[in-house]
Amino acid sequence: MTHTAEYAEKQAELAPTKTAAYAALSAKTPIEPFQIERRAPRPNDVAIEILFCGVCHSDIHQARDEWGGSIFPMVPGHEIVGRVSSVGSAVTKFKVGELAGVGCMVDSCRQCVNCKDGQEQYCVKHATLTYNGRDKNGEVTYGGYSTSIVVDENYVLHISDKLDLAATAPLLCAGITTYSPLRHWNVGKGTKLGVMGLGGLGHMGLKFGHAFGAHVVQFTTSKNKVADARKLGADEVVISTDAQQMAAHAGSFDFILDTISAPHDIAAYLNLLKRDGVLCLVGAPDEPLSVPVFSLLGRRASLAGSGIGGIAETQEMLDFCAEHGIVSDIEMIPIQKINESYDRMLKNDVKYRFVIDTNSLKSGAAAV
Ligand code: NAP
Ligand code: ZN
Ligand code: ZN
Repeated sequence: MTHTAEYAEKQAELAPTKTAAYAALSAKTPIEPFQIERRAPRPNDVAIEILFCGVCHSDIHQARDEWGGSIFPMVPGHEIVGRVSSVGSAVTKFKVGELAGVGCMVDSCRQCVNCKDGQEQYCVKHATLTYNGRDKNGEVTYGGYSTSIVVDENYVLHISDKLDLAATAPLLCAGITTYSPLRHWNVGKGTKLGVMGLGGLGHMGLKFGHAFGAHVVQFTTSKNKVADARKLGADEVVISTDAQQMAAHAGSFDFILDTISAPHDIAAYLNLLKRDGVLCLVGAPDEPLSVPVFSLLGRRASLAGSGIGGIAETQEMLDFCAEHGIVSDIEMIPIQKINESYDRMLKNDVKYRFVIDTNSLKSGAAAV
């Protein structure tokens, strides 16, 4: 090969790849077709052909700038599964052709106490989010509503081929976000666990609570989800708008996991905790919640919060799911139905996670 040909080949390898995606161009506009560029893999990078991406309520919060600080254009999506299409020269953990997953973060400082403890999600310098973030070079990150992604191998997860791949995607956020607090607070045999909200996170919290051997009480506002909740493993189901049903559980819970996405009254649930009980927020409404102090000090209760999970724990959760046959209950959609899926989520009409089939993004796919 001549020097010029070799040079041209090297340049092509280093060139970014044009990638089909869907993006929010502003907080007030629907998600629409958009093109992004993915960087050429660096020595430690894994390039992944995205096959499926789950739709998290955080995608709605961020695409509509409900939490503030959103960066537009935004390509949401942080429940990504796919196949490795190429690897950088120094990659040791992944091979071309293997399944791979990416969750809510793609990098962190790797130096701070939290990163060193494997709790990269709490990186004191802030982990780089998979989308709506900026990486160490200041480049805006784009998520999984796209056909490919390039991520440092240390932030990529191994995915079992034993599980349904599309139904595995939501484990990357809904799964780890519920698994991590249940493990941290040792929920298991002998625990009376409450799960608030039966959506994407809620149904995973319910499945994990059941798998860990807890007595699980599912709280829901949706009467039409009661039978499902039982099938998913709930020992009891409480319609949270029914004061009498709520009162029957007063002072009885060890741990309650709050997955509700909208502002709501937590006082009613704090009163259901027993002495030293914990109510842990994972839901992230866009307005502050009001806390009546007597609900806490009257029972030495704790109000806590938890954010996703570290990379090692995410892998542990995925391995646990592969071993126990746990996946998400999903409704598959083409990307063209993304705005409709947002509207349905806001009406609590999702059973229990939308997952985008990214085939619908590839050229030639029919618009729906
Ligand atoms: P989702 O699928 O839309 O489920 C939310 C559920 O909350 C609904 O299905 C509904 O359940 C209940 N709900 C909604 N509005 C309500 C209201 N006004 N009052 C009472 N209940 C209500 O959402 P998701 O994807 O599971 O996400 C849930 C929340 O967790 C979001 O705020 C999201 O941003 C956040 N999140 C946090 C983390 C973290 O790291 N902490 C990670 C991922 C997501 P019922 O029909 O059963 O009542
Ligand atoms: Zn999420
Ligand atoms: Zn750090």
